[in-house]
Formats: sequence, C-alpha cells, structure tokens
Amino acid sequence: MELPFAEEYRIKMVEPIRKTNREQRVQWIKDAKYNLFNLRSEHVYIDLLTDSGTGAMSDRQWSEMMLGDESYAGASSYYKMKDAITEITGFPYFLPTHQGRAAENVLFSTMVKAGDFIPGNAHFDTTKGHIEFRHATPVDCTIKEAFDTTLIHPFKGNVDIDKLDEVLRNHPVEKIPCIIVTITCNTAGGQPVSMKNMKEVKQLADNYQIPVVFDSARFAENAYFIKTREEGYKDKSIREIVLEMFSYADIMTMSSKKDAIVNMGGFIAMRDENLYNQATVYNILFEGFITYGGMSGRDMNALAQGLREATEFDFLENRVGQVAYLGKKCKEYGVPVLEPFGGHAIFVDALKFYPQIPKEEFPAQTLAIELYIEAGVRGVEIGAILADRDPGTRENRYSDLELLRLAIPRRTYTDNHIEYVAAALKNVFDRRNEIKRGVEILKEAPVLRHFTVELAKL
Ligand SMILES: *Cc1c(COP(=O)(O)O)cnc(C)c1O
Repeated sequence: MELPFAEEYRIKMVEPIRKTNREQRVQWIKDAKYNLFNLRSEHVYIDLLTDSGTGAMSDRQWSEMMLGDESYAGASSYYKMKDAITEITGFPYFLPTHQGRAAENVLFSTMVKAGDFIPGNAHFDTTKGHIEFRHATPVDCTIKEAFDTTLIHPFKGNVDIDKLDEVLRNHPVEKIPCIIVTITCNTAGGQPVSMKNMKEVKQLADNYQIPVVFDSARFAENAYFIKTREEGYKDKSIREIVLEMFSYADIMTMSSKKDAIVNMGGFIAMRDENLYNQATVYNILFEGFITYGGMSGRDMNALAQGLREATEFDFLENRVGQVAYLGKKCKEYGVPVLEPFGGHAIFVDALKFYPQIPKEEFPAQTLAIELYIEAGVRGVEIGAILADRDPGTRENRYSDLELLRLAIPRRTYTDNHIEYVAAALKNVFDRRNEIKRGVEILKEAPVLRHFTVELAKL
C-alpha cells in the first residue's frame, strides 16, 4: 500500500479555538458592517482570511528568537538574515523592511514616478496601491488562460510575452521603470509562473534594459510547482530551482509573512549596488537603519531560519498538498473552485456559485458572509470590492474573476479542520438558491477600500 501524506512535524504547543452559534454570528457580522476584516478573531472558528503572518513557527525558529541581537547597528541578526537571503536567492544586497508593502514603498519611492507604466502578471493589491498612489499605471499582462477558472494549465500565473512586448514597444523606455512578476500570482489564484516564462520575461526586459522585479511572497511554493510540473526540473532540489528562478530577476520584494513563515517581516534584495544605495535613503526614512529596517533582531533570526525551512521539499509537499486536499473535497461536493488549485489557497468561483446575484451586488463578498454565518469560517473576497475603482473614471472595476479565497495558514490547521471547512461550504452550496440578493457599499476609502468598506445586505 502506498503510504498517505503525513505532516513533516508533530505538535508541541496548541492554541484553543472556540465554536460559536449561528445566532451570535448573524449579529457579529451585522455589527461588522458585513466586512469580515471587522470581525474579532475570537468570533472566528477557522480563520482562512489569509496565510499572511498566520503560520506556526517551528521550535528552531522560536529558539532563534531567543538569540536575537537587538543592537541598533550591525546586529548579528542582520548578518544571519543576509546570509540566508544570499544563500537562498543569490542576491548580494538586501534591506530589511517591516513587511512586504513596506518593501514596495521603499523600492517604488526609488524607482516609480507619476506617468509611469508597470507591466507584469496581475499585480497584488498593495503593489497596485503603491503604484497608483504614485500616479503610475500597473498593466496586467497575465495570460488569458488565467481568467478561465476551469481551464487546466500548469502555469496560469505566466506573463503573456506578446502582450508584454506590445506594452514595451508602445511606451518610451524611460516610462517603464520595471516589470513586476508575482510568484506565485496571488491575484490570479495562487497560480505559479514557469521557469521558461521567467526566462523569457528576463530576455525581453534585457532587450529594453528594463529591470525585472519578482514580487516573491510565495517563491518557494512557486518552486514546488516548477519541480512537480515543469519538464526538466523533477530531479532538481527546491534550492537549486529557487536559485535559478531568481537568476532571472534583478530585484525582489518579499513579504516574509508568507514563505518565510514569520508573523511579521519583509525585505528587498537586489544585484545592483547603485540601486541599493538609492533605496537605502528611503529605507532609513520610512523603515529604520539599514541593519534592522523595521524589524527586531529576533524577528530577523526567525526569518532567516524560516526561509531555510520553507525551501525544504517535504514542507512544501505537505503545505501545497493540504491546500489541494481542501480543493479536492470542494470538488467532490460540487462546489465550483478554481483549477488547478492554488499553492496557498482555494478559490471558489462566486459567479458560478451564485449566478443569480449580479456583479454589482458583489457575489463573492455575499458568499464570504454566508460561509461565516454557516460555520464561523472566515475567507476573503477577491473580486470587485478588492479590485476597487478605476482611478480615472472612479467606476467599479468588474472582472471575470469574482472569487472567495480560502487561504490556508502554514502548519496551523489539521486535515480535520479542512474537512470541517469543506462541509460548511457544501451546506452553503446546497442552499444557494435561497440567496437572491447580494450587498451594497455604504462607505469606502479612496484606496485599498476592501479593508475598511462598510456594507449592507440588499
Ligand atoms: C502579501 C503580499 C504582499 C504585501 O505584503 P505584506 O507583508 O502584506 O505587506 C505583496 N505581494 C504579494 C504577492 C503578497 O502576497
């Protein structure tokens, strides 16, 4: 008999979570103005809002916390982090930041100006926010296959090279400060980018002498998909694959709350000393001195250790395997989910789930609310509320992707929890025809509105 999947760890410490009843949840979500970000975490039983900063650190990481060097300048923790980054990514220069968007803020302060265009595969929301905040325009060049939620394609996060070439040809080079490739592509459903595609992007970018930035929050999961799906990589180690991946980038930004399995942290890494010196100015201004940049020494230590653990094949096999297990269960129950399954999350297709709810009434948000009321499970809308308004016309941006994301924190929940979530979703699906209307927006912020939006049920 073939041995089943099993975790590559055992549990040494537990955190209690509590069930609640439907009546309570109906009240709490109403009080939260139907925005799941407004819920208190103790009112959530299983929290799949995000896999960001919600993972469980290992005993090695906790030990490293005790060894943190909190010196203002030149801390050994800084050098530990630097060594891990250089060893794993190959980049010689790096700046610590307090999280991923801070890395974007520092880097874009250095590189992006008003009127610029920044092509790439579907940019992450904070990335887009930081670009648009500077009156520049992100240009989505993701392959068209990404927008068909049932189409099976091994690398749905890929950049459409022809589209990218068109953007580069039709704009003056000085208006394109960089190309951003997000690995894995969160906005497209946690879908990976192939090594071949990264290489092609880099070759094209080199022709125009435009630097390539990898938005790398889930680079290790991306490497796992390359190993298991792309020809020629089966026998390469994750570390070898990661090194090759980053050889096709000039710069990386990192939210370490994802694939470095820490609760807080981030960094920018690069090859160019000049750029490093420029970015240093903004890092000191916004984040802190270059050897800590918004992080404590202990956190830098845990991050260094986390990078090593996250690039182990056994970890990734279980991590990506548990996400796929949720996807498989959903499919078994007939729930329409995006395929192939993402590396960090399962995405439910709300347009197929609730075809009776018009896009203007936010079907994915409606589904998130129903799932919470059903079982105390918190997911997040990846749809028109997140997509925000067009900065020019101020119209809502509706796309073909209107999804409920169920993101799985690393090493945090057991497969029993996963089964509970799938069963809850099945119940919501079985009574889908009872839901006739969605929600409307009462109040919203000018950028990144999804975090604070207030809604009402129609
Ligand atoms: C999370 C994330 C970010 C932003 O990082 P924070 O740590 O949340 O600030 C940027 N890009 C991608 C792809 C992400 O997943």
